[in-house]
Amino acid sequence: MRFDTILIGGGLASLVCGIQLRKSGQDCLIVSAGQNALHFSSGAFGLLSRLPDGTEVHEPLKSLSFLPANHPYSKIGVDKVAEYSSTTVGFFDSCGIGLHPAPVQGDGGFPANGYRLTPMGTFKPAWLAMEGVTLLPSKDKVNWKKALIVNFSGFLDFNTSFIAEGLGNKGVDCRVERVILDDVESLRKNPTEMRSVGIARIMNKEKNWKEFGAKVKELRGGEDLVILPDVFGLGDRIITRWLGEMIPAEVMFVGTMPPSVPGIGVQMRLKKTFESLGGTFLSGDIAINPLFEGNRVTAIHTANLGSIELRADNFVLASGGLFGKGLDASPDKFAEPVFGLDVDSPGDSHSLCDEDFFSPQGFAGIGVRCDDSFRPFRNGGVLENLYVAGSEVGGCNSLYEGSGAGVAILTAMSVADSVISGQ
Ligand SMILES: Cc1cc2nc3c(=O)[nH]c(=O)nc-3n(C[C@H](O)[C@H](O)[C@H](O)COP(=O)(O)OP(=O)(O)OC[C@H]3O[C@@H](n4cnc5c(N)ncnc54)[C@H](O)[C@@H]3O)c2cc1C
Repeated sequence: MRFDTILIGGGLASLVCGIQLRKSGQDCLIVSAGQNALHFSSGAFGLLSRLPDGTEVHEPLKSLSFLPANHPYSKIGVDKVAEYSSTTVGFFDSCGIGLHPAPVQGDGGFPANGYRLTPMGTFKPAWLAMEGVTLLPSKDKVNWKKALIVNFSGFLDFNTSFIAEGLGNKGVDCRVERVILDDVESLRKNPTEMRSVGIARIMNKEKNWKEFGAKVKELRGGEDLVILPDVFGLGDRIITRWLGEMIPAEVMFVGTMPPSVPGIGVQMRLKKTFESLGGTFLSGDIAINPLFEGNRVTAIHTANLGSIELRADNFVLASGGLFGKGLDASPDKFAEPVFGLDVDSPGDSHSLCDEDFFSPQGFAGIGVRCDDSFRPFRNGGVLENLYVAGSEVGGCNSLYEGSGAGVAILTAMSVADSVISGQ
């Protein structure tokens, strides 16, 4: 089988890159092993919240020059980061995914980070939030006086006490209530079903979310804020808006324990867009055994397709770093398992495990070593038609910096441009 480009990984980076390539007419295949980081998403995307030295970032685009030269954003370049980040909302909109920025501009005139309420009751910076997820202009000051926090009876993956305590610390008077719905109660017969996605499937039905909204409306006293678990709108996120319109207060959807309903919704819609544009998505399969000719990759195999060669002009590796199993960690080293690429790390994996359990881990920058076009090194030489995108790329600690989705989206756009322009 032959394609123009084969992408490895079914997460945010691979899907964004694949959609961009399909839009320019490339014949694309995505090989996806399974779950990805979107299944654990907070419901918001980070661009940059903290510099490597710990300084908090308010306006990400203003802080790019403080990043090291091997950071993915430095490789993309300040102007291109600004361009790609400004097109992100439109890109996702074209895939049926609503994203919104913080409600204020920064002092320097650049887009500013907003703050989302976490399931732990704290406020964390974010660049863009999914529909239904509120971004506040500040983490220090809130305007609500009273909040009603509503959960489903028996749903343990939404911790109302943490949220009440966090808001209480900001001076908000919180009351917690539970709603019983017959259809949700049926999930309790099997404890493993009483999870966010199980409830979200039930809440996709108009009868159910309307019944839930009516019960919340009845429960509301004089509260100016109503907080609900983010288990609505798996099929169509607009349900969060309709539910909000039923309740006469500000309604905020706050994340639950994984799986993340808003994150899975984004993954489903990106995959649907890729396929509706004519891309081929191979689910539940693993890319293995590449073939090389000099400094080029000519084909890969997959675990399920056996000896069938999947050939392409270009390949994109977006296999998710340590979390996505795009990197292997053994006691003495980190390795990239598909192509045997060179990996940058600050030390061997053993030396990164400090004896003090609570000391910060030095996982900064572990990832595939790439040139400025995100082409990887293998045995010291660059592979000409393989590109790396997303958290597989070295040079940053995206969880620490709060840059995970930004790095995934922007490296994907950059790689798509390089493939299209034939660099
Ligand atoms: C638990 C967690 C939560 C996060 N939450 C957020 C958040 O809320 N906001 C944010 O901005 N960032 C978040 N991040 C950062 C996250 O890394 C990025 O947001 C982004 O989603 C990463 O996308 P990716 O495509 O690079 O990798 P991934 O999403 O990890 O996808 C990699 C994919 O490659 C597949 N794969 C691996 N090897 C192979 C192979 N050989 N063949 C085929 N497929 C393969 C994996 O199965 C996986 O599907 C989070 C990260 C983690 C780990």
